[in-house]
Amino acid sequence: MKDQKPGEFDLISSIRRQKQPLPKSILQSIGDDCATIDSSLLHRLVISTDLLVEDVHFRRAWTSPHLLGMKSALVNLSDLAAMGANPVACLLSLGLPRTDTAEFFDNFISGFLRTCREAGMPLIGGDLSTARQVCISVTAMGTVPEGEPLYRSTAREGDSVLIIGDLGYSRYGLNFLESHSLPGLSDVKVLTELELGTDDPEVIKAVGRHLLPEVHLESAQWLRREGMANAMIDVSDGLGNDLMHILEESHVAAEIDLGQLPGLAGVGEEERIDLALNGGEDYALLFTASAIQLAQLTDRYPGHLPPWKKIGEITGGAPELVLNLRGMRSIYSRKGYDHFQ
Ligand code: ADP
Ligand code: MG
Repeated sequence: MKDQKPGEFDLISSIRRQKQPLPKSILQSIGDDCATIDSSLLHRLVISTDLLVEDVHFRRAWTSPHLLGMKSALVNLSDLAAMGANPVACLLSLGLPRTDTAEFFDNFISGFLRTCREAGMPLIGGDLSTARQVCISVTAMGTVPEGEPLYRSTAREGDSVLIIGDLGYSRYGLNFLESHSLPGLSDVKVLTELELGTDDPEVIKAVGRHLLPEVHLESAQWLRREGMANAMIDVSDGLGNDLMHILEESHVAAEIDLGQLPGLAGVGEEERIDLALNGGEDYALLFTASAIQLAQLTDRYPGHLPPWKKIGEITGGAPELVLNLRGMRSIYSRKGYDHFQ
């Protein structure tokens, strides 16, 4: 944007100039008081919103506006993935400080729209305001075109507990960024080339996962479409916290084998387990499957998708998570992040 002090309408116009393919269900996009969706084309509309606040959810010194834009779209896609939904559209409300508005906005929007385009989730509306710090609110809408979404409340006794994706990397990457002062990250560099001052591939992967999470949308859609899961959630607050959500909503218990958790190589066992259970922002997919579903998964899960792994079993009884480490059992107690405690 050439103008150093763009107004609200310049910012909105710059979004409108970026062409976005629209699905048939979107009848009106940016430019009117409301966007309009033909809901009869959607069967089930799933909808979710997320709020990202500077210095609470991210630090501008540790990321770039472009990566932040991409991540803002990705974390919302992960919520759609958790239901097994296909993206339809999203809304974006931004609070921006008056300083470097244009530069931040241009780079943020280019990252945000890049991820939206890749996922087929056009941006169809939103709002803008000045604010002391950057605030980003994204509302994502998706569709489950037939059948039902995958809820947290439908795990059954006897199900296996399965996971797709990594655990603990994002928190490890965040810890690394917190303890190393790095120059501002460039917009154009790919993550493996970041000047992290280390060539340790696990550290590079961890920082990469923190800045740009891997979201398992395609795997999730396949699981729902093929009827391969009973309950599902995305792991955003640590495996322990998020599995507890399934257990509480489904009124069941579970036992997991800590030796099976997909965590970091190259850190001690205790740290690896703590990062997996209590880290955050992994965006792995956690789901449960009956014996029949598990047998079919083994036969039919597509080879090009990230692999699933069995980590435990759903058992009967009051919601409680049993941790098994080489036969030693303990009960999980919540340690994940709580904004108000
Ligand atoms: P209103 O007066 O209803 O608040 P605005 O002038 O804020 O409308 O917005 C005009 C149009 O631009 C609306 O269609 C709105 O959805 C869209 N819009 C505003 N901010 C954003 C944004 N951050 N991202 C996408 N669309 C936006
Ligand atoms: Mg407005």
